[in-house]
Amino acid sequence: MFLPSLLIICYNLCMQKSNFSFATTKLIAIFLSVCLLSGCTKPAGLTSVTRDDLLGTAITISIYDNVPDRLFAQCFDEIAAIEARMSVNRKDSEISLLNENTGGAFLVSDNIYALLQRAVYFSGVSGGAFDISIGPVMELWRKDGHFETLPSPKEINEKLAYVGYEAITFPGSNMVSMEQGMRLDLGAFAKGHALEVVRDILLENGVRHALLDFGGDIYTIGEKPDGSNWRVAIKTPIVGDNSLVCVIEVSDLCVMTSGGYERYFEQDGIYYHHILNPATGYPAASDLLSVTVISAEITGADALSTAGFVLGLEQGMIMIDKLEGYEAIFITSAKEIYVTAGLKGKTTLLNTGFQLKGN
Ligand code: FAD
Ligand code: MG
Repeated sequence: MFLPSLLIICYNLCMQKSNFSFATTKLIAIFLSVCLLSGCTKPAGLTSVTRDDLLGTAITISIYDNVPDRLFAQCFDEIAAIEARMSVNRKDSEISLLNENTGGAFLVSDNIYALLQRAVYFSGVSGGAFDISIGPVMELWRKDGHFETLPSPKEINEKLAYVGYEAITFPGSNMVSMEQGMRLDLGAFAKGHALEVVRDILLENGVRHALLDFGGDIYTIGEKPDGSNWRVAIKTPIVGDNSLVCVIEVSDLCVMTSGGYERYFEQDGIYYHHILNPATGYPAASDLLSVTVISAEITGADALSTAGFVLGLEQGMIMIDKLEGYEAIFITSAKEIYVTAGLKGKTTLLNTGFQLKGN
């Protein structure tokens, strides 16, 4: 089998978004070594670099053209710069400074200004299912950056009063204003932005074939070096199940997945996952296990996968169908897989415990 498709399948097999570790890195390394040793040939020019110290996940950039090493360094430096500007885990990030200066207009960089306008647009498109002002409630569920604490209903109700993207306004050039007490969280959006920035750097540098894997969120540049489409596998969206559920063929597209199996904790027999319904402040009680959005527009796909998961199958489908340039795969708790019109015939079932409907 050709190494790129093996790579994708290997990554999706190994990669638990939440719990990626050096052990997993080792697994991938072992797998690749086994593959190489057993006679698979490495495509000419393939260079693959993984780092797991950025954006709280593992990031692998695999380029199938001959490029200088400094291009990888440039990409990872840019991701580090995005994290420094946008992480809510860093007190000195631009987003944290904005969060400390609510109740009036605050001057932000061009980059943050444009990104926040885009985020507010997708909040509107999703009817508030995706809402970057989820910060005050999200902070109740997080402890030391980890999603692990069950807040009281009273705490949630108090903080919900500060959630609502409509109160984020742009009163002037590079000015952002929020009501006192509001706080932004770009967890559902900034990883997509980082992926988009790296994609653009690689395209500007003449890269024609590359696979970018940001913790299971994928972008494929061009086709595989042999001219065929990339085959991107989606992990079975069930806690503890590392099998693959289906595979789709793509080129020059992202494959962004949101699901309840990624980051969660269990308390008194109940699973609490990290995708919150901004209307309730609790993990979205979705009829879905995961939503995967496929598009050339990466930040939009990141927002819409989160939104689709919150909305559920019916409303999520309606939202995606209305938008130009986005396709989606919805996997329900009843183990059914629904795809939007543009993916019909392009999705192959791998896990026979699931049913592919109307493909
Ligand atoms: P998505 O569905 O794309 O996003 C879910 C995340 O979005 C949640 O974790 C929450 O942050 C937020 N969210 C929840 N509900 C909603 C909603 N309804 N609307 C909008 N947003 C919502 N992880 C670490 O463990 N340590 C780190 O230091 C760390 N730093 C990060 C820095 C940056 C700049 C970014 C972008 C991410 C970082 N992460 C870190 C990862 C982050 O916490 C999320 O796990 C990740 O971005 C979620 O991506 P996803 O694709 O799994 O899920
Ligand atoms: Mg998202």
